[in-house]
Amino acid sequence: MSVLKELYQEVILDHNKNPRNFRKMDDATRHVEGYNPLCGDHYTIFLKLDGDIIRDVSFEGSGCAISKSSASVMTSMLKGKTKAEAESYFEDFHKLVKGELNAEQNMDRLGRLAAFAGVSEFPARVKCASLAWHTLHAALHDEGAAISTE
Ligand code: ZN
Repeated sequence: MSVLKELYQEVILDHNKNPRNFRKMDDATRHVEGYNPLCGDHYTIFLKLDGDIIRDVSFEGSGCAISKSSASVMTSMLKGKTKAEAESYFEDFHKLVKGELNAEQNMDRLGRLAAFAGVSEFPARVKCASLAWHTLHAALHDEGAAISTE
């Protein structure tokens, strides 16, 4: 567990302090708002799709360290990926934070996402960590303009 704990500290501190792709995208093809009323996390995810390819992805808004670093890590991983690849990361991430995927055995596949394995020990934090991913999922499927975790 110590490798994962170190990764957790490192990735979450770094991405919270210095979030990647933290900007409004004026030429986004889609944008969806996500809200987690339990914690007050509130972000908008911007997507620029070119057919099935995610050309660009960014976010803005505010929330706790877990939600912000999760959105930052997510956006840094998805540029240039296909919609199907993004969905596959979403499934892995969902299983990871629910404690249904062993991070240590899947480090190669998960990369920086493995840092969020520790969240599975704190059920109230699962929604914080998943918010950006649920919002992205809605944006990929064009499911309206806003989602809430409640
Ligand atoms: Zn939160």
